[in-house]
Amino acid sequence: MDTPLIDPFDRAIRYLRVSVTDRCDFRCVYCMSENMTFLPKKDLLTLEELDRLSSAFVRLGVEKLRITGGEPLVRRDILTYFRAMSRHLETGALKELTLTTNGSQLEKYAVDLAACGVRRINVSLDTLDEAKFAQITRWGRLPQVLRGIDAAQAAGLRVKINTVALKGFNEDELFGLVDWCASRDMDLTFIEVMPMGDIGNEDRLGQYWSLRDLRATLAERQTLTDLAERSGGPARYVRVDQTGQKIGFITPLSHNFCESCNRVRITCTGEIYTCLGQEGHSDLRAPLRASPDDALLETAIRAAIGLKPKGHDFDYSRQAVDGQVSRHMSHTGG
Ligand code: SAM
Ligand code: SF4
Repeated sequence: MDTPLIDPFDRAIRYLRVSVTDRCDFRCVYCMSENMTFLPKKDLLTLEELDRLSSAFVRLGVEKLRITGGEPLVRRDILTYFRAMSRHLETGALKELTLTTNGSQLEKYAVDLAACGVRRINVSLDTLDEAKFAQITRWGRLPQVLRGIDAAQAAGLRVKINTVALKGFNEDELFGLVDWCASRDMDLTFIEVMPMGDIGNEDRLGQYWSLRDLRATLAERQTLTDLAERSGGPARYVRVDQTGQKIGFITPLSHNFCESCNRVRITCTGEIYTCLGQEGHSDLRAPLRASPDDALLETAIRAAIGLKPKGHDFDYSRQAVDGQVSRHMSHTGG
């Protein structure tokens, strides 16, 4: 392996998230507006370019690769890319290949994903009520996602559910969601809604449900034990003593997790964002396309890592959405 990637704050970069498309078959209200303008296809990295770029990062020490989007499984021929990445699992350079998905295409792809060496996936699901599911995702349908989750578990994939905590929307389903996940042996992570992108008329402060409050409600019913385990990201975990279930809390707004941040993100156009909460980014597509060998690309990657900021600036405390980032979550992939 070449000299590994270390940023100016001495954080080793081991985790890469790659957004393979900005498109999606859902229009979740906190993520997208109903009428999104997507990028022209020519701006997207081809599957071969995604392979070259991801492989360069693996060579530079990335051990965990998460594929995201938009909805990664709506990208045409996406299995070609997963198959390409599975060769790094075989050599042992890559320890984990995983994805975050809305679940709509899992029924079709679960078996193939498992064959590519994917062992764990995150499925985003905010409600178990069919009407509310259609309301929050606008275009999604719950039964399709539930069939996808069934298919994933049948294929041997470990499923973790990601739920965005939304005030006045899924507060009343807290226990229902926790119990449903426990009954299916799935871990569950709650995410605080983040101020990203223009989403039309939705009121972000109105959507905000503090995970501190959510956790307190949960603790009234069950005993929660903090786990030391950290992912290098914004998640903290507890174990529910009564069931052994693991529950995660992603609180990018109310906690500072940046000191242990080991991750960077690539968009589907080949921009690298070294911090989810900052606008700063660099272009890797030009150096990638400029030469068939990876020397220029590697120099550009190292330069970008050299600019990784210490932390982010999201702040709701003054009752205004400060530190808001104009791009959508679907652009950098969450
Ligand atoms: N389409 C896939 C999915 O929904 O899982 C992958 C991409 S999606 C952008 C990744 C995650 O970001 C999802 O769990 C989604 O709920 C979350 N997300 C999107 N917009 C968000 C926001 N404004 N605040 C917090 N989480 C958000
Ligand atoms: Fe699509 Fe995921 Fe965004 Fe929902 S959260 S609109 S499924 S990219």
